[in-house]
Amino acid sequence: MEVACLDLEGVLVPEIWINFAERTGIDELRATTRDIPDYDVLMKQRLAILDQNKLGLPDIQAVIDDMGPMEGAREFVDWLRERFQVVILSDTFYEFAQPLMRQLGWPTLFCHRLETNEKGFVTDYKLRQKDPKRQSVKAFHSLNYRVIAAGDSYNDTTMLSEAEAGILFKAPQNVIEEFPQYPAVHTYEELKEEFRKASIRDL
Ligand SMILES: [Mg+2]
Repeated sequence: MEVACLDLEGVLVPEIWINFAERTGIDELRATTRDIPDYDVLMKQRLAILDQNKLGLPDIQAVIDDMGPMEGAREFVDWLRERFQVVILSDTFYEFAQPLMRQLGWPTLFCHRLETNEKGFVTDYKLRQKDPKRQSVKAFHSLNYRVIAAGDSYNDTTMLSEAEAGILFKAPQNVIEEFPQYPAVHTYEELKEEFRKASIRDL
């Protein structure tokens, strides 16, 4: 029995915050953990900027809805779901991912959540647990599943190392060089091939 774990942003959908900043023209929202390493400080700043710009959750979701998944992502997810139990492990929030998950046919998603007030403004965020991607793979192991995982960045590497097989997809060159133990591919056709190779079944 095999579970396929996929990262979301950079693998199936664009980077949500970066794309959101571009679409709204709010440059300050471009900041990432590379600029502000403390995630809590970064998130508080993002929520304050949304508030200053009077962007409530419905406005934010409308912008995210327009982004759409990456070309070929829906077809890839459908292909994978015919062959594996698929779970998407992401550091995003349900409320942000929702418009994109609808366009992907509602695959299972494990991520974090936001809190909103009665006016629809985002007031806080709740992380489900620490190191959630690794913990999820460990949990699948405890249920006797074999795990094949694919992701594009540093926040995926604990998931990739915990899984029986890890794959880098559309990863930047520095990540590929730092983690040479994982095959690195750039198209969904190549990614399908890596899942076939990593599976213990004949797919
Ligand atoms: Mg990613």
